[in-house]
Amino acid sequence: MERNWVSCGQMYYDHNATSPIPPNVRAAVEHAMAATWANPSSPHRPGQTAASAVQQARATIARCMGTEPGSVTFTSGATEANAWVLAGSTLPVIASATEHPSVLAWAEELIPVHPNGTIDLEWLEKRLRDQPALVSVMAANNETGVIQPTDTVYNMVKESGGRFHCDATQWVGRMESKLSADYITLSAHKFGGPRGIGALISADPPDPYLRGGAQERGRRGGTLNGPGIIGFAAAIEGLQTILPTERDRLAAFCRTRGAIEIGAEAPRLPNTLCALFEHPGDLIVAGLDLEGVYASTGSACSSGSAQESHVLTAMGLKGAPVRFSFGADTPAGPAIDALTLVLARLEDACV
Ligand code: PMP
Repeated sequence: MERNWVSCGQMYYDHNATSPIPPNVRAAVEHAMAATWANPSSPHRPGQTAASAVQQARATIARCMGTEPGSVTFTSGATEANAWVLAGSTLPVIASATEHPSVLAWAEELIPVHPNGTIDLEWLEKRLRDQPALVSVMAANNETGVIQPTDTVYNMVKESGGRFHCDATQWVGRMESKLSADYITLSAHKFGGPRGIGALISADPPDPYLRGGAQERGRRGGTLNGPGIIGFAAAIEGLQTILPTERDRLAAFCRTRGAIEIGAEAPRLPNTLCALFEHPGDLIVAGLDLEGVYASTGSACSSGSAQESHVLTAMGLKGAPVRFSFGADTPAGPAIDALTLVLARLEDACV
């Protein structure tokens, strides 16, 4: 039987890993697969019908991101867009210590973070006095939800003659205000869109990373993922506001069980709760799974590996947390009920 993620989305607390696909997005993708499936670069009529659907989607995404359609270049997701911006940089690449691994892979120097998870602006200001750089600071962290002061960073970097990249993968869909950066990268699957589609938002993108095709005005080779792009537009257009109410209700419950709420002293996304319990996060997550409640031990990219989280380490913390990440209509109740059971079982096992 097909698992219906829309109806069982009530128990799904892992939106920062990927989000369920709402019915309007699914319908838009299905329609595109049936009606505008042709190669948008083909000169014939089906190709041109597909091309105009892609252009319409591009215009929608640009409007939602507060930019021009010409500044939107589609990629296979945020990993590719991050690599595109950072890999060929002629300026030294400086990134915050809590970036996603797809950014850290290209970083030559790391900006330290304070214990609350926000970057050390004084360190950055001093560093930029020596030499301009390509600075990469994420809008919000995928593990903790901690929001970085990206407007301040943007101004600092521009004054120093450098370039600013902002990985907005966890920001879009959670926060409504617009970001300022030379390069903004994002991924549709974090806010209800299909997997495998994302974008670089930039009026002046770097030289192509994927070469050998004239697609995207020569900026990025490869046949355009028409249905993915159309699903991306439907998802961004249909975004609902996420309030922190249910996350805060779960956080209050976790505190009554002695948990430490990571990043709570910093500005944070309204949908993310990263909590360190007395018991290891992987045991709690496995127990919750048996109760039909789906959370994670940190980022999906590092789960399954026994490594410490580089994000917690950079904040001076140790341990295996549990991450709950909410969608717009996720209630706290099922997580509270399941946690009550799982923590009681772990207590019993310890006596
Ligand atoms: N950056 C951040 C902050 C992320 O959370 C993720 C996804 N875990 C990525 C980049 C990579 O995105 P994608 O899955 O589109 O490659």
